Amino acid sequence: MSKIIPYTASNSVEEITIPAWKVIQNGTIHLNEDSAKWAACTHIKCGNCDKLIEKRYTLCNDCRDKIRISKYNELPERMWNGETPIYSNLIDQYFFSASELEDWCKDEDLEFNDIFLKMFEFVHCKEQYYYELDPLDIYSDIIPEDGDIPDELKNAFDKLNAEIKNFKIPASWYPIDVRACLHTTSLADWFKKTHSK
Ligand SMILES: [Zn+2]
Repeated sequence: MSKIIPYTASNSVEEITIPAWKVIQNGTIHLNEDSAKWAACTHIKCGNCDKLIEKRYTLCNDCRDKIRISKYNELPERMWNGETPIYSNLIDQYFFSASELEDWCKDEDLEFNDIFLKMFEFVHCKEQYYYELDPLDIYSDIIPEDGDIPDELKNAFDKLNAEIKNFKIPASWYPIDVRACLHTTSLADWFKKTHSK
């Protein structure tokens, strides 16, 4: 049995003095110097160079850009056919065809070099098709354990799944780690035509 200690017991606590750090700006007390300094500061050094940056970041803009660009440049590259979507993480935008990209270049008044050298870090996208449905999965929370789906419903799902399997239009596209090379003839030609005047 554990010992009973009344609130009024005189020997249950003792006064001690421990070092603490006060944040000058707002008076908050920290038992740890690091946490006090962290609370007090607004800026820290970039993790890659000596530049001062806001403490919510770990790297300065330049270092973030450098690392992002070098990661992008290390990706494998494939020629773009101008027909499947490409995506730019930099501007968070998909382009579903070369003509869409051309229209955007016109609207943004972009030069050949903006697209072909800076490249907006375009990557290829992969299609995502509708997936077949498993009624046991869908109804798992309402059918009894070891329960089964009635044949009539199973047959209906089989028919639906056959339709889904044959449906060849993608539900969506998602970016993949493959650089899209835009030196396609149609785009390069378009730039030559529109910018040589
Ligand atoms: Zn830096």
